[in-house]
Amino acid sequence: MFSRVGRSIYATGIDLWLDSLTRRARSYISHGHADHARPHDLVVATPQTAAICRARFPRKAILSGSTMFEEHPYESPWESEHHRLTLISAGHVLGSSQLLIEGEGGRFVYTGDFKLGTSRTCEEARVPRCDTLLMECTFGEPHFVFPPRQEVEAEMISFANETHDAGALPTFLAYSLGKAQEAMAILGSAGIPLVVHDAIATIADVYVQCGVALPAYRRFTEFETFSDGAALVWPPASKSLPRMIAQKNVVAAMLTGWTADKRSYASYRSNRGFSLSDHADYPALLRYIELAQPTHVVLFHGNQGFARHLRSVGINAQVLGEHEQLSLLDPV
Ligand SMILES: [Zn+2]
Repeated sequence: MFSRVGRSIYATGIDLWLDSLTRRARSYISHGHADHARPHDLVVATPQTAAICRARFPRKAILSGSTMFEEHPYESPWESEHHRLTLISAGHVLGSSQLLIEGEGGRFVYTGDFKLGTSRTCEEARVPRCDTLLMECTFGEPHFVFPPRQEVEAEMISFANETHDAGALPTFLAYSLGKAQEAMAILGSAGIPLVVHDAIATIADVYVQCGVALPAYRRFTEFETFSDGAALVWPPASKSLPRMIAQKNVVAAMLTGWTADKRSYASYRSNRGFSLSDHADYPALLRYIELAQPTHVVLFHGNQGFARHLRSVGINAQVLGEHEQLSLLDPV
């Protein structure tokens, strides 16, 4: 039996919360983004996600030992309450995982956030076969089709070079976990020097400690001159740039899958947008289902339109509403 409580899922049979946003005695965390990762008494996660949590959670929670970690590397199953649990790469950010639960009732997969295809800074997703699939579908509308990654990367590099040649400061707005490090790897591959926000550097340090090859980068300080033609990578949540940067001629580009949606994209105040996403686009969501071959698909961060489309092509699909219990998901 699975229950949805607000934005959290509870797996009764193995007494485990999945990405709970409320503090629990024990919760699985699929990856380090703030809308999935919160301190709990005991966190179940990959070693990379645990390292990211240690860097992002309040220092008090880590130092006092009030948050402990139960770490499981990818593809290393363990037994829990008569079930076999395995963490599988999700291709979203470093350490991101899907949870496979196998029991007498069959095979169940919770995807967390995922992306198919390769990245420069995180493991490629593997799609396991399952009976019941609990999946996110952030981009579950047909107009979300991202251009090939190589094309996006080439455009980002040209934008940085052209902006610099025009005497302006190329600035990439990217979430501090995942997207920013991917942008750093892309720009660094073209020899573009990098200056990054403090929060981005903190996560980049964890990536390097986990063995990811990142190009050299400098933490932004008020003494930065950008004299070597560096590009700036900055989190979009930091509303305004420091005065020292704002005085410069800044040309900003937002990195987001939402560039494919004009209404959402209009809310970002940037000059350009590049469809660099760490989520699956619409065709990739369908491809995932094709590869996993589930009997039931349950959409968690999902929309009714996508569920209707799946049903129209013969797939048993539904959206899991808040405070809803699903006993049909019964491998657990
Ligand atoms: Zn995420």
